Amino acid sequence: MGSRLIHTSSPNSSPPPPPATPVTDSRATSTTAPPPPPTVAAPQDKRQDDRPLSGAAVYGLRARESGLRYDWTREEIAQIYNSPIMDLLFYGSYVHRHFHDPLAVQQCTLLSIKTGGCSEDCSYCPQSSKYDTGVKGSKMLSEDVVLAAARKAKEAGSTRFCMGAAWRSTAGRKTNFKQILGYVTEIRGMGMEVCCTLGMLDGDQAKQLKEAGLSAYNHNLDTSREFYPKIITTRSYDDRLQTLAHVRDAGIHVCSGGIIGLGESAEDRVGMLHTLSTLPKHPESVPVNALVAVEGTPLEKQQPVPVWDLVRMIATARIVMPASMVRLSAGRVRLGMADQALCFMAGANSIFTGDKLLTTQNNEWEGDQRMFETLGLVGLKPDLVKN
Ligand code: SF4
Repeated sequence: MGSRLIHTSSPNSSPPPPPATPVTDSRATSTTAPPPPPTVAAPQDKRQDDRPLSGAAVYGLRARESGLRYDWTREEIAQIYNSPIMDLLFYGSYVHRHFHDPLAVQQCTLLSIKTGGCSEDCSYCPQSSKYDTGVKGSKMLSEDVVLAAARKAKEAGSTRFCMGAAWRSTAGRKTNFKQILGYVTEIRGMGMEVCCTLGMLDGDQAKQLKEAGLSAYNHNLDTSREFYPKIITTRSYDDRLQTLAHVRDAGIHVCSGGIIGLGESAEDRVGMLHTLSTLPKHPESVPVNALVAVEGTPLEKQQPVPVWDLVRMIATARIVMPASMVRLSAGRVRLGMADQALCFMAGANSIFTGDKLLTTQNNEWEGDQRMFETLGLVGLKPDLVKN
């Protein structure tokens, strides 16, 4: 389903007036001495008529003035999501520049350490044992293979190494789990941030991962609570939130986002962002994935989403969770450099590099290097204190 827009207020209702905020970039590093930043007022849009400012303009300006909010309403988020694309691009970027170095993009590498044969029925996933996709179940990769992949990723510029296992949960996998704890410690020792995505976790496992040195744990909500049962039936939305709570309680950073292009409505996209942005703390990382439809899965016939839907999601995520990393994840392989530039303008500041994203194709390393050079992007340095 495409990007059906939601109308939550009458066209004549005026959003609250924008605050005035000075414009400054939040740059982490600089190699040459820059000129002093100009002191100018917040952008005041010239308009040819008296139409109200868009949600992106109002809440983008406010985000810079008042910082993080945890009391977003669905209506407010829908106002942002439904803003004209040009406003989403501009105000996503406006917020991005206040909270992040606008040229720094985190490069992460994701390795499938245990592929296929998963008991879950996520209808987008070629690794589910319920679907005939040609992906065979395999054993967990050995230490030498995983550590060699991490070293290679580091040499190629990645600062975060993520390990994914196709499991419902880590329950009853004591030996594998112990091995993974060892991998985490070793990779952390290489000076990389380490992330895992291993399915559902309990509180004790989360604590063990924290002690081993894990920076972040990925567990996506995938979509809205309402649409979720159409995508997965083998575990509930609340199961997912429970795992996120265990991760948060253990002091591990939360990485959680979703997928667009599953057949969801714009309301569902807004609903997912609402759940994420009203958690007790925003996820430090919010992956925005575009479905890569795989033959043999129930969603094999889904059409790819247009880049504008990605821009809408990214800019909206950027405005409602301004301090989070917003990761342009699966589906990037279909985007050219100009499309990706739009996503970075909208507020994305993290990508997966490496030839494969679990089982699907990812962008080529050389192409990514060319893109960084052409767009003037730099790799984000690892932060082993915060992460
Ligand atoms: S997304 Fe994860 S949990 Fe769902 S089927 Fe695929 S591997 Fe299993």
